[in-house]
Amino acid sequence: MSRSGWLLRVALPSPLRRYFDYLPPETAASIGPGQRLRVPFGRRQLIGVVVDRVDQSDVPENKLRAALECLDEQPVLPLPLLELALWSASYYHYPPGEVLATFLPVLLRQGEAAEFRSEHCWVVNDGVEPDQLKNAPRQQALLQLLMQHPHGLADEALRAQQFSSALVRALHDRGFISRQERPMEPLHWPEGDPLQQSPLPLNEQQQQVLDQLNENQTGFSCSLLQGVTGSGKTEVYLQLIEAQLRQGRQSLVLVPEIGLTPQTVSRFRARFRVPVVALHSGLNDRERLDAWLQAGRGMAGIVIGTRSAVLTPLARPGMIVIDEEHDGSFKQQEGFRYSARDLAVMRAQREQIPVLLGSATPSLESLHNAIEGRYRWLKLSQRAGGARAPSFELLDICHQPLDEGLSEPLIQRIGLHLARNEQVLVFLNRRGFAPSLMCHDCGWVADCPQCDARLTLHRSPARLHCHHCDLQLPLTGRCGECNSTDLNAQGAGTERTEATLQRLFENYPVLRVDRDSTQRKHALQKILEQVNEGGPCILVGTQMLAKGHHFPKVTLVAILDADGGLFSADFRGMEKTAQLVLQVAGRAGRAEHPGHVIMQTHHAEHPRLRSLIEQDYTEFARQELSDRRLAKLPPYRYLVMLRAEAVAQGRAEIFLQWVRELIEQHDWPGVSWLGPLPSPMEKRAGRYRAQLLIEADQRKPLHPLLSWLSRTLEEWPQARKVRWSLDVDPIDN
Ligand code: ADP
Ligand code: ZN
Ligand code: ZN
Repeated sequence: MSRSGWLLRVALPSPLRRYFDYLPPETAASIGPGQRLRVPFGRRQLIGVVVDRVDQSDVPENKLRAALECLDEQPVLPLPLLELALWSASYYHYPPGEVLATFLPVLLRQGEAAEFRSEHCWVVNDGVEPDQLKNAPRQQALLQLLMQHPHGLADEALRAQQFSSALVRALHDRGFISRQERPMEPLHWPEGDPLQQSPLPLNEQQQQVLDQLNENQTGFSCSLLQGVTGSGKTEVYLQLIEAQLRQGRQSLVLVPEIGLTPQTVSRFRARFRVPVVALHSGLNDRERLDAWLQAGRGMAGIVIGTRSAVLTPLARPGMIVIDEEHDGSFKQQEGFRYSARDLAVMRAQREQIPVLLGSATPSLESLHNAIEGRYRWLKLSQRAGGARAPSFELLDICHQPLDEGLSEPLIQRIGLHLARNEQVLVFLNRRGFAPSLMCHDCGWVADCPQCDARLTLHRSPARLHCHHCDLQLPLTGRCGECNSTDLNAQGAGTERTEATLQRLFENYPVLRVDRDSTQRKHALQKILEQVNEGGPCILVGTQMLAKGHHFPKVTLVAILDADGGLFSADFRGMEKTAQLVLQVAGRAGRAEHPGHVIMQTHHAEHPRLRSLIEQDYTEFARQELSDRRLAKLPPYRYLVMLRAEAVAQGRAEIFLQWVRELIEQHDWPGVSWLGPLPSPMEKRAGRYRAQLLIEADQRKPLHPLLSWLSRTLEEWPQARKVRWSLDVDPIDN
């Protein structure tokens, strides 16, 4: 019997790396890839996505079960995105059903219809005349407004016009209006010119870059735009997107953090008349689905979002932009551990559209691709609009007395800038008051009971806080060992630096920006507004300050501790330090005032630090790359980390030792492994962690091993006693 394609192959949210075959539901006409099915699974029901129609199944025909219903008349996921999901499941060796679930908004995973929300609105009942309400002028006004909108108006629209809900209820109670449900007004893309605001006239460099990029408005191409901070990269993105919009095509823009830099979204909204959809963490599930549908149905001209936005469908994709492509937040660090940057490139290839990676400090991976000619490499070396690049200075603090981390020469320089009515930015990548609390009588240190880590002392609100597992303990004021009250806060975090600066410069406002000070809604916004008023002040904060802000009046940037990443165990430590330093430095002197950057260091002669400040990022990166090549590290080597964790100490390591022996029973040409080793922080959140590094000079030989390994571990009873995960192209160790 041959019925071609009569079985449905389905990806289900299950931890197994396989598909499941079902008979079509009895009622459905035609079902194909990308549509959702509700199916029986054991004694439960699950919602999955059809990935294929097939003729044959490994399941005997009498064991095949029928799907219960098909939830979609059309594919919810367009074919290129479905293919991207399946490809990434095999690339990251992650269960395909879980990957597909990540591609869908929560409500679709739960079986909600792929439809816009309906909203309640008020309509005028037949036969009603406004004259009837002569004695109630507000009610009459409301009625007249509603009469101008035969399709009705929603509560929100009425509230915006200052009609209270009590008023609406009164009209309803008197039988003048009634409530109806209708689908939400779809966004619409206005005809004609997409511009609302004129573009800036480009400088010569920007124009050259734009012209080159516009040569490839269609078809796949990947370009790296390396432009110093403030060089006008965003202006280039805007003009590229404009060209796409003129062809009726949508653009997808990925940014590291959307909440921190609302200016970015406002710039896009201000420039264009087309709808701009921002996917941010403040959206609820319903709003997220609506935004997803607006993108997928071609109503949004521009979609801006963080990492997961790369999975958003577009009806008429034009291009993808990844701003600050070096940023670590583009890598998902749990579950389906994808890199949004890498997926964006893969997606662009499948959709045959250009992708643009932008950064002042590109990742070494992307730079390597540019140097090798795989990416087109475009540069903006000057700041736009006449601003000058900041100058750098390494301040040697060996033997210098420090006042809570601040050296005397630095304090003087801060005073100088303030006296000139300028602003100062002090950067310290450590929040809290002090990174540890120690007993002066016995040397006891407050450690996290669940992690191999110190507890950070916080003052506002007062607590001991583990930044790794989020454990928070009250302050008792006593040593945990000898009960002494003579406790010392060791080292300085942003809270302490804020207090010190306030003591030293009591006549100036000191504004702190870190995760604690910006927790409340609009708190960051308020701080930024105060800074933008332009009066002299000191901004002190963590890397939150490094991201995308413009502080035109800041003329001095002080980096309190430049040494953090220099000798770190992470081979990316130096790269990350360089990126952070240049990004923070980039906030200074953006307008007519030139900026100066002072870095306090104990290693003023460190060759890599010197090359960073004396030459430029590219030169620095070339030196790093040549070290990586010698040390056989990425991007010259492909890594996969098999991680394991367990509650009992040693168990994860023993498990990985078994895995290693299992691997060694076979021949894997071109692949080698290292470990198992305890993870850099072995105990975290109450679990002991270990890792086995699998590596190769080429990507290809890794995949057969990983496929075999993941399937073997899925079925291996020993593997149930630990939590294990595969991290392909890990970015931290
Ligand atoms: P980047 O994204 O590279 O940091 P932006 O696009 O944000 O740079 O530009 C930095 C500043 O320079 C912004 O205030 C922007 O308005 C301004 N700018 C950009 N391009 C031009 C230009 N061609 N002429 C004048 N000002 C510009
Ligand atoms: Zn003690
Ligand atoms: Zn902890």
